Amino acid sequence: MARVFSIDARNPDLRLIAEAAAVIQAGGLVAFPTETVYGLGADGLNPAAVARIFEAKERPLTDPLILHIADPEALPSLVRETPPSALELARRFWPGPLTLVLPKRPVVPDIVTAGLPTVAVRMPAHPVALALIRAAGTPIAAPSANRFARTSPTTAQHVQDDLGDRIDLILDAGPTPIGVESTVLDLTRPVPTILRPGGLPREALEAVLGPVAVQTRMDEGPQPSPGMLPKHYAPRTPMILVVGPPPQTRAALRELAARYAAQGHQVGLLVAEEDRAAMADLPVETVVLGPEDDLETVARRLYEGLRELDARGLSLIIARDFGAQGLGLAVRDRLLRAAGGSVIAVNRDAEKHG
Ligand code: AMP
Ligand code: MG
Repeated sequence: MARVFSIDARNPDLRLIAEAAAVIQAGGLVAFPTETVYGLGADGLNPAAVARIFEAKERPLTDPLILHIADPEALPSLVRETPPSALELARRFWPGPLTLVLPKRPVVPDIVTAGLPTVAVRMPAHPVALALIRAAGTPIAAPSANRFARTSPTTAQHVQDDLGDRIDLILDAGPTPIGVESTVLDLTRPVPTILRPGGLPREALEAVLGPVAVQTRMDEGPQPSPGMLPKHYAPRTPMILVVGPPPQTRAALRELAARYAAQGHQVGLLVAEEDRAAMADLPVETVVLGPEDDLETVARRLYEGLRELDARGLSLIIARDFGAQGLGLAVRDRLLRAAGGSVIAVNRDAEKHG
């Protein structure tokens, strides 16, 4: 079983950090908190150590990892070109939930990038992550610390549940503040392209760069981003996502929940505060993520809510969408994948315009 160190999120004990850094330097695996979700870290320049990440997660070797750095100045040592846009984004948003994809230097092992000529790099905004990277003295390769295609971990307990018997150490600094993964932005294309919506909203990027494309689902060809696999971030329980304007969504949720419950299903609902009253008399279990317009809270609680419902032995989860503004886009992306494409759109026109 992994050792677990409880560590202060704001002011990490540097003796514990030094021990964790020694594990990284020795080629071991350390799960650590970032501001987005818990990461499973290894020395990003040591191919054997990185291989252990793939084994522990059962992650296909075709899915590239993000390299985490503790200083923007480390970026040019990993990438061949640092365009002005990358410098500007790093200046504005690092440390923070933004990952930049750029052409890689040979020092970056092929296993990190799944053989791609590009590498994904970010500087996380969490004192424990930054202290660990600094003490290790190497970029840390770290995907989310969950088994492949499962729900990402926002607490150390989630890591323990998924990977406790496969890794060396878990740094437990409490729940992660943002709760969804970083935004992955590809800067190697003519138009900057979001490959995975995440903790930094598209609007924030567009304010700096102008128009930004979003390409999260490939209809054909190779998959440059594992988050692009249709089924990902998924609970074990079958799930349906209802998308549309809030009043119609609420009505559709109620009708669906009542219908499936009447058919003998054990139904769990993943909803907003505003939906609760409308579902109160139904024989279903309800998890509330937060108020409709408080997307920070909704994102922070998303994975916890999915895990909570998944643990209850239900036969069906019905979740609602939270729109495409700000963090809503990342929440929608994760819910779409968790539902594996089982989506009910209740008013496409209203959705398109609203
Ligand atoms: P995870 O670390 O599990 O949150 O997933 C890493 C994310 O970064 C995935 O969506 C990857 O596809 C993406 N990523 C990492 N490296 C690259 C790359 N070179 N090109 C495109 N996407 C990448
Ligand atoms: Mg992941």
